[in-house]
Amino acid sequence: METQKRIIDEIMANSTEAIIVTDLNQKITHFNKAAVALTGFNIVEVLNNNVKDFLFLYRETGQINLDEISPTGLIENQGIIFNEKNIKLITKLKDENIVNVRSLKVKGGSEINLGSIIFIQDTFEQADLERTKLDFVSMAEHVLRTPITVIRGNLSRLLDEKTTSKLDEAEVNHLNNTFTGTSELLILIENLMNIVEIRKGDLTLSKSAISIETLILKTVRDFKYIAEEKNLKLVFIPPLNKLPMVDADVAKLKIVLQNLVENAVKYTSEGKIEFFLDVTEDNKIMVSVHDTGKGIPADNINQLFTKFYRVKKALEMEYGMGLGLYMSKKIIEAHGGNIWVESVEGQGSTFKFTIPISEKPSFKDY
Ligand code: ADP
Repeated sequence: METQKRIIDEIMANSTEAIIVTDLNQKITHFNKAAVALTGFNIVEVLNNNVKDFLFLYRETGQINLDEISPTGLIENQGIIFNEKNIKLITKLKDENIVNVRSLKVKGGSEINLGSIIFIQDTFEQADLERTKLDFVSMAEHVLRTPITVIRGNLSRLLDEKTTSKLDEAEVNHLNNTFTGTSELLILIENLMNIVEIRKGDLTLSKSAISIETLILKTVRDFKYIAEEKNLKLVFIPPLNKLPMVDADVAKLKIVLQNLVENAVKYTSEGKIEFFLDVTEDNKIMVSVHDTGKGIPADNINQLFTKFYRVKKALEMEYGMGLGLYMSKKIIEAHGGNIWVESVEGQGSTFKFTIPISEKPSFKDY
């Protein structure tokens, strides 16, 4: 009996398909690692609780009643009782995944209080196209990121006063455009790389005590030309007192800041973009990125941080994939912080995020 249980545990743990087992009252008795990764719920919160509270599935006509998938009571049918493809699964963090779901009953299962076994296959893992994308992104990391970083670094050096004073206006414009394009490409590559990490469930942070002020100053410097090109002011309003360090993965946090400034520049046609820093009551540093841009309609704000989401009107106007905010949210939440936006359509937006203050005193900068 013990050996059988161990065999079952091993099979479940190593399956790439999410597997959920329920008892005759729809209570969850097994929930494997793939189910945790797919739904976002952890084992402790689901075990012995009703599967209806954790599995949110939708077909085109609406939410699926879990009684279809995991019927209660002593129903003595066996074999597959549910089998549907391309169902939408909403995770704990309200993300969407497209999945295939099968559930089955085992003969004699009622005798051991076995309700049903539910298998959920993430179509993202399956689709060839998606796999090709993952391969492409891994390749991009190796072969594109380094040379583009070098190109961008050199362009940024050419954009100093000494060089630009020798060029005419059109030449400076060409240089500015090349720098902007290269910066955008680099952010895109970094976003895609992070999406793959997030999808594989291994967004690992390499944290240290860092100065958020230094990081913001670098971001302001990097985006100076891009903002100037649109006649936008990009300013960091330094805090009155020196702020403590934050505990963060500097490379990942940089991506969040880049995404927020890139958006602020992209969706603002006149005015300014400002950075502020504050300390919150719960010992976090709050970063605000304020713009005087087009703003976001109130009924779009809730979905803004979901994957591939773009405000309808923006589609007609600016290039984008709708990944930046989704990823920023994942990165900030992995740090134990929050990210949100306050916006008035037509007046501007302020994106804010919090990051925990570092508890360990450190003199390390970067
Ligand atoms: P992308 O900019 O690539 O479309 P994001 O995930 O970064 O994707 O942003 C999602 C959507 O949120 C954008 O398409 C845009 O509609 C809206 N948005 C983001 N930042 C701003 C901003 N500063 N001002 C107005 N709208 C914004």
